[in-house]
Amino acid sequence: MNLEEEKRKVIEKLIREGYIKSKRVIDALLKVPREEFLPEHLKKYAYVDTPLEIGYGQTISAIHMVGMMSELLDLKPGMKVLEVGTGCGYHAAVTAEIVGKDGLVVSIERIPELAEKAERTLRKLGYDNVIVVVGDGTLGYEPLAPYDRIYVTAAGPKIPEPLIKQLKDGGKLLMPVGRYLQKLILAEKRGDQVIIKDCGPVAFVPLIGKEGFQ
Ligand code: SAM
Repeated sequence: MNLEEEKRKVIEKLIREGYIKSKRVIDALLKVPREEFLPEHLKKYAYVDTPLEIGYGQTISAIHMVGMMSELLDLKPGMKVLEVGTGCGYHAAVTAEIVGKDGLVVSIERIPELAEKAERTLRKLGYDNVIVVVGDGTLGYEPLAPYDRIYVTAAGPKIPEPLIKQLKDGGKLLMPVGRYLQKLILAEKRGDQVIIKDCGPVAFVPLIGKEGFQ
């Protein structure tokens, strides 16, 4: 089986298992070449649905997690999205496919080497609607706020206050919360209120920063 066939098979499995269902998310996962975001020796495992090492103690997220997070966020074309934790850039590419040319993905990464590599891969693949920023994503990215959606790809002790502030009214934020036992939390901002929903247990690398773990 070649990588294209393996990709199709894993996505069919994720549809059967109920992780993904909307055409937008399915099309985006089918389009993005996950192998391009992996080191040479791991490219052959691109469509094994598991996190894989990308260096600096960090990982590329599993395919089902990227799909599930995209569904929970209800991403739509034209949205402005903040991603905290660029890593290799794979998840940013999937989001960029969904928000399209009229949308924007601002992705922030604390490890400069990962940010540079992700930016190079995203440019090579033509994702001009992604801006990669080096910094502490627990503080968000004020210059381009407010955002329709914010998601965090590392687990923190709580939802950082700056992220809530930088979310539009009616906007949604998704992030793993907890150190050992983590839960994926969906927060919806409605005026002064934040409505919280627990989307189940997850396992992510730690969110390190001023409003994260030290
Ligand atoms: N989004 C990635 C993908 O496409 O597969 C997965 C990201 S990896 C699981 C989590 C990333 O969050 C790591 O690259 C880590 O360096 C980054 N990170 C941790 N704390 C951060 C912070 N405060 N600000 C920005 N990035 C952070």
